[in-house]
Amino acid sequence: MQTTKAWLIGGGVGSLAAAAFMIRDGAIPGENITILEALPLMGGSLDGAGDAVKGYSLRGGRMLTSDNYECTWDLFKSIPSLIRPDRTVFEETMEFNEQHKAHSLARLVDRRRAKVPVESMGFSMEDRLQLLKLCQASEEELGTDRITDWLAPAFFETEFWYMWVTTFAFQPWHSAVEFKRYLLRFALEFTRIETLAGVKRTIYNQYDSLVRPLQTWLAAQGVHLIHDCTVTSIDNADKDGEFTVTGLHCEHAGKPEFIAVSDGDLVFLQNGSMTDASSLGSMTAPPPKLTKANSTGWTLWENLAKGRPKFGRPEVFNSCIAQSCWESFTVTLKTPAFFNAMTEFTGNEPGTGGLVTFKDSNWLMSVVLAAQPHFANQPVGVQVFWGYALLPDRIGNFIPKAMADCSGAEILDELRGHLRFDAGIFAEANCIPCRMPYITSMFMPRARGDRPLPLPPGSKNFAFISQFVEIPEDVVFTVEYSVRAAQTAVYQLLNIERAIPPVTPHARSIKTQLQVLKKAM
Ligand SMILES: Cc1cc2nc3c(=O)[nH]c(=O)nc-3n(C[C@H](O)[C@H](O)[C@H](O)COP(=O)(O)OP(=O)(O)OC[C@H]3O[C@@H](n4cnc5c(N)ncnc54)[C@H](O)[C@@H]3O)c2cc1C
Repeated sequence: MQTTKAWLIGGGVGSLAAAAFMIRDGAIPGENITILEALPLMGGSLDGAGDAVKGYSLRGGRMLTSDNYECTWDLFKSIPSLIRPDRTVFEETMEFNEQHKAHSLARLVDRRRAKVPVESMGFSMEDRLQLLKLCQASEEELGTDRITDWLAPAFFETEFWYMWVTTFAFQPWHSAVEFKRYLLRFALEFTRIETLAGVKRTIYNQYDSLVRPLQTWLAAQGVHLIHDCTVTSIDNADKDGEFTVTGLHCEHAGKPEFIAVSDGDLVFLQNGSMTDASSLGSMTAPPPKLTKANSTGWTLWENLAKGRPKFGRPEVFNSCIAQSCWESFTVTLKTPAFFNAMTEFTGNEPGTGGLVTFKDSNWLMSVVLAAQPHFANQPVGVQVFWGYALLPDRIGNFIPKAMADCSGAEILDELRGHLRFDAGIFAEANCIPCRMPYITSMFMPRARGDRPLPLPPGSKNFAFISQFVEIPEDVVFTVEYSVRAAQTAVYQLLNIERAIPPVTPHARSIKTQLQVLKKAM
C-alpha cells in the first residue's frame, strides 16, 4: 500500500486532474490526497453557478476539440458520466456532439447588421508572406516579440484575424510565440474557422459537465476536498540545489492552520490563475474593479520565485491589467423572444452556431447560444446565453460608456443595438457581467524561463500545475494545458512509465498543410 500523501494547492481542473492521475496511474489511495481551495467551490476558472431566480453566471464558455485535447480525453475516458453511469464523460460528450454538430452560419456580423461572407480569409499576398515567416520563425527568434512586431496593420483588419482572435481571445499586443503555437496546434481549426465545425461542446456548462463528474469520482475514491482554505506560505528546505517543501501555512475558514509535509509526501501548486481577482456585477451595477491587491493567488508564486529563477517570473504575466483584462456576461431569460429572433437571424439552432461576433463593435463583442438547458438545474422555459467583449475599456456604439463601467442592463442595450432588436426583446432578462483583470495574462509576451517547468530541476517533492508552466508545443488558455501540466507533473514526480498522450502534430500532416494552403489562398 502506497503511504505517500499528496497536497494540492488550488482546486482548479489542473489539481482535480492531478489527483485523478495519482489514483488511476500512480496507485496513490484517494484518502492520501488533499485538495486545498481558497474559494467555496472546486473547479476554479471552470465555473458555472446560479439559478433561474438569482440568475446564472459563467465566467467562460469553453470550446474543446476531439482532434486535440489528448490528455483531457485520456482523463475523461476514465470518469463516469453523472447523467448515464454506463457511459464515460468522454462518451457522453462525443454522443452529444454527434447530435449537435457545429456549423456556424453567422460567424461575423458587420456594422450594417449583415452577415459577413467568410469563405475567404481576406488575406493579401503580404499578409500570407508575413504569416508564413512568423510560422517558420523559431521561438528563440520570436523571443518576447508581440504579434504586431511580425504582422503589418492591414493583417488586423482581415476576416481571419476577427475570427481567430474572437475564437481564441488574442490581442495584437500578445505574445508572437504563443500566437505561432496556436497556428500550429490548431492547424485543423484554421481550415474550418469560419464555421467552427471542429469545435466540441459539453452537454451543459463545463462546471456541470466536467468538474462535477470529476469531483464526484474523486470524492468516491476518498480524496479530501477542502474549501475556503487559502495557502498563505510554504515552508521549505532549499540547499545545495535541492528544494523540498516541509510545511504549508493556511487560512482555513478564517482560522490559521499548519500542515506538516513529511518525507516522501508531495505538494503541487497552482501558480497563478486567469480568473484571479475576477468580480461580478448585476443588472444595475458594473463589476467592481479588483486588482492584485484583492487576490491571494499570485502572492504564493511571487514569494517562492524571489531569488529562484527556476521558479519563473510571475511579474511577466501579472503586471499590466490594461493588456490582460476583458469582460464576459451571462444572461438568464424567461421569455423565448431573444433565442427565437437569433435563430431566425443567424439560421442556426442554439448549440449549432457557436460565436457570433459583431466585428465592427467598439467593444469587439461576441455572443454564443448554447444548446439548452445549459445548466443541470435549469427549469423548462428558462434560457441562458453567454457573451464577451475583448475591448471593455472602449466606449460602446450605442451606450456612451466603456463596457467596464456598464451594468448588465446597459450591456444588453448595446447588444440589442448591434442586432437592431426591439426594446422588449430582453424583458425580464437578468444579465450578470464579469470582469476578469488577468484573463489573458498567459498570453503576455514571455521569454524561455519566465514559466517554470512542471517539475523544476532539483525539486524533490514539489511541482507546478497551471497555465503558467512550460510545456513544449502545447497552448495556454485551454483546459488541455492544465490537464497536460497535471499529467506531466504527476508522472514525473511518481516516475510513472505510462506514456503521456503526445501533442498531435496536425501541422506536420501533408493533408492538413494542403488544406491550410487552400484556405489561405
Ligand atoms: C472566460 C473563459 C473562457 C475560456 N474558454 C476556453 C475554451 O474555449 N477552451 C478551453 O479549453 N479553455 C478555455 N478556458 C480556459 C480554461 O477554463 C482554463 O484553462 C482552466 O479552467 C484553468 O484551470 P487551472 O486548474 O489551471 O486553473 P484555475 O481554474 O485558475 O484554478 C486555480 C485555482 O487555484 C486556487 N488557488 C490559487 N492560489 C491558491 C492558494 N494560495 N490557496 C488555495 N487556492 C488557491 C484558485 O482559487 C483557483 O480556484 C476559458 C477560461 C475562461 C475563464
